[in-house]
Amino acid sequence: MKDVFREFLNLLFPPLCALCEEALVKSETFLCTNCKADLPHIQLHGERSQFLYQKLSATFPVKQVFAYLLYQKAGSTQKLLQLLKYKNYPELGTELGRHFGTRLAKEGYTEAFDLIVPVPLHTSKFEQRGYNQSEMFANGLSEGLGVPVDAELIIRIKASSTQTRKSRIERWLNVSTIFEVQQIENVRGKRILLLDDVITTGATVEACGEVLVAAGCTELSVGAIAIA
Ligand SMILES: [Zn+2]
Repeated sequence: MKDVFREFLNLLFPPLCALCEEALVKSETFLCTNCKADLPHIQLHGERSQFLYQKLSATFPVKQVFAYLLYQKAGSTQKLLQLLKYKNYPELGTELGRHFGTRLAKEGYTEAFDLIVPVPLHTSKFEQRGYNQSEMFANGLSEGLGVPVDAELIIRIKASSTQTRKSRIERWLNVSTIFEVQQIENVRGKRILLLDDVITTGATVEACGEVLVAAGCTELSVGAIAIA
């Protein structure tokens, strides 16, 4: 009965594409086929991932860097991230995670990780938003890859202040004391994929990665919905 009602509602108010706002057909979720195909996908081992890899390698031994989309001001990725972070579209994150997970599975990454860990939000921000966008992305990626998610492994003990007007050192100091591993025994010996929403300076994943490495994970890779 519920499904019949939903189909009736969809007939009256068809769900729209999050980007072009055209009505979606039954097989489409959040994005129409055209907009999905037009997303600024990042080449898996391309220049941009390599650049971030080099940068993070200076702080901790990172295995690989994976990013789904390119972030550009006023581009489609920015629009999707705004919907995901500020307009209460948690399912959009999961959907993007599914797309990316399917792609990574096709490239042979189903056995590459033991655990997916999203960068946590501070409790106050979590309560305000009601969900962690990186965790939503992690859940979709988990479906696509068949790797479990642990969203409680790390907690954010301090909310970081805004990063934009700080120098690199100040940014690093600002995030270096904000994460804490909860169960060290769940990190030890694990190959972990750490996920963030957007990586710009890399300071947040650097700080988060450091605590995971210190807690004894055997491999640490970093992934993101987008990199700038
Ligand atoms: Zn569209």
